[in-house]
Amino acid sequence: MISVTAPEQFKAWQAKVLPPVEEVRPGVWSIPVPFINNPMRYTLAYLLVGDRESALVDPGWDSDEGWEALMAGLATAGLGPEDVTGIVVTHFHPDHLGMAARLRAASGAWVALGENEPLPTHWRGDPLQFVDEDREQFAAWGVPAEYLGEVSFQEETWAQMTAIAAPQRRLADGELLPISGLQVRVLATPGHTPGHIALVDEANGLILTGDHVLPRITPHVSLEAANHVNPLGDYLHSLGIMDVGAEMEVLPAHEYRFRGLPTRLAELRFHTLERSREVMAVLAVGEAATVWDVSRELTWSRGFDSLRGFTLRLALAETASHLVYLGARGVEVGIDVSRGAPTPTPAP
Ligand SMILES: [Zn+2]
Repeated sequence: MISVTAPEQFKAWQAKVLPPVEEVRPGVWSIPVPFINNPMRYTLAYLLVGDRESALVDPGWDSDEGWEALMAGLATAGLGPEDVTGIVVTHFHPDHLGMAARLRAASGAWVALGENEPLPTHWRGDPLQFVDEDREQFAAWGVPAEYLGEVSFQEETWAQMTAIAAPQRRLADGELLPISGLQVRVLATPGHTPGHIALVDEANGLILTGDHVLPRITPHVSLEAANHVNPLGDYLHSLGIMDVGAEMEVLPAHEYRFRGLPTRLAELRFHTLERSREVMAVLAVGEAATVWDVSRELTWSRGFDSLRGFTLRLALAETASHLVYLGARGVEVGIDVSRGAPTPTPAP
């Protein structure tokens, strides 16, 4: 069992409201930032106060409400945006990196991502080609024509992806955050994205896990980024390397804080492998010829037919990640998943 270490946060999660801003340790603040129109409801940003410098981890989804919540959180900690000197983002998804551009404009802080994360503003190419290639990918995965429009990216997606902040810094595994007065170590945890990072603060007994480890849900691992060969294999490896001890308090980017990391790692591993076994069982029947065919046969919480739009896209990309993983383990998959959907190719 994991144990919840933040009763107020947990109560807020259950009541479907925004949890309070909290000081987790002296100089370590949890600031919930609303994630509008999403069942996750908020991203937990963390403020790490150093010696006349401070880091803001995962500023959250870009919105006016989110900005107000972030500024109110900083004010509770007695700081303003100009006191933030580094913006550290666990991965490039817009509910983490989205507000970095706005915060950088207000603070002048640098933005840092893990060294293997795709570089949004260096994505290049023609948006229409990007949309076409994305559609082709899903067509190759057996998605019927009538669903292609809703699962594939649109031109707005391109605009949104290329508008988010470019990192000025890259963080390597084992490196300390370059913030005076902090002793926080970067732990590379690829899987959810190619360059996902966690942050370990040993002195405070804290680990910031981003989306890699959450208390309640299993993070989405999908075949998506073009530079991510075997996301699920990476994810399982990252679960294996992150056991920093049962006494560490886990500060995830969503939901609520807890203790019991080894237990949670084991649960996530079990769920992931159980899903892979389910995919194998579908393959064993020998009737599935495409990613779509396999996805239809898997168990989904509200049934496959309830999956629409972006959720359907995620479900297909998750199935594809299992097929790639199984193929890499020597299972005869016999289904074409030769490349991920064309997330814009990062520049070298
Ligand atoms: Zn997230």
